Amino acid sequence: MARTARAAVYEAPNTPFVIKTYPLRPVAAGEVLVRVTMSTICRSDIHSYEGRRPNPCPGILGHEIIGIIEEIGAGIDKDMRGDRLAVGDRITWSEYFLNGDFYYRDVHDMPQKCHGVRKYGHDLADEDPHFLGGFAEYCYILPDTGILKLPAELSDEEATPINCGVATMVSVTEAAAIQLGDTVVVQGLGLLGLYGCAMAKSRGARLVIGLDAVPDRLEVAKRFGADHTFNIKAASDEEIVARVRGLCKPDGSDAVIEVCGVPDVIPQGLRMLRTGGRYVLGGLVNPGANVTIDANMLVKRWVTMRGIHNYHPRHLIQALDFVMANRKRFPFKEIVDSKFALKDLDIAFKKASERSVLRAAIVP
Ligand SMILES: [Zn+2]
Repeated sequence: MARTARAAVYEAPNTPFVIKTYPLRPVAAGEVLVRVTMSTICRSDIHSYEGRRPNPCPGILGHEIIGIIEEIGAGIDKDMRGDRLAVGDRITWSEYFLNGDFYYRDVHDMPQKCHGVRKYGHDLADEDPHFLGGFAEYCYILPDTGILKLPAELSDEEATPINCGVATMVSVTEAAAIQLGDTVVVQGLGLLGLYGCAMAKSRGARLVIGLDAVPDRLEVAKRFGADHTFNIKAASDEEIVARVRGLCKPDGSDAVIEVCGVPDVIPQGLRMLRTGGRYVLGGLVNPGANVTIDANMLVKRWVTMRGIHNYHPRHLIQALDFVMANRKRFPFKEIVDSKFALKDLDIAFKKASERSVLRAAIVP
């Protein structure tokens, strides 16, 4: 009898997920079939669900995924590190597979931005091989995906956000060029911001300041490396800027990182920077993030401003290393704070979108 498995299918924005059954076929060369053990709901899954970014329907959302190898196709025997892969290994993998063009991938070493790159959780479910997203019992890993074997001591909760949230923040903090002794401001203390605070510290920052408008998050961030946190709604813009600059002696912060997805914070962030400071934007992933800034500040203060989207395969390796090296210092295992069955995906999405949970996980 043909094998089948279940998926929670996204049929249209803002409508309930539908549990459907699709066939599982044997893996082709270069492919791996994984039994999903955990997938978490990323903010971008919520944006897709709400119809704020295009995503094919019917589809299977979810790209922060880990799972156990059930079948390995010909031609795959090692992960990105060179560790041997075998049936039964628990793995993470890059959120995209590279079937894109040569220009960005090889000429500019930006494989994550090459035209034609395809991402897990962004494909049609009614086409072969059906299972290319996290909210399902199985996922096919297609050729040119970066795979990493997960160490046994890492819990599923610590491991699942590595291939999106953590790896993205490796890319963002690398772009911010955080060095020993730096002062760093993190705008937004959701999942990305928490990893951002911890990573800034582990890259050697002397002072990390976290900003958010949600009071609960301010205390949590202190456990993830923030030395000071401010509620940006509890004081005027002027006051917040003055307090941050007062802490970042003598003339403002070395780097500001935006991971809150709100363009209005940019003018405030610019005023916190020292001359020659770096500003990296990582949260403004949806179009229409319009904002007015005094560009004269960029000129007079020699500010470098750059955007970062997705990550290079090397960042996935660094993300795993970062979590392994810092899991005793920071409480990463508390980030995934709720678990749901596949059939309860609607409830999980509701809780995630109203932010009553930090990271909701699906355990199919
Ligand atoms: Zn994501």
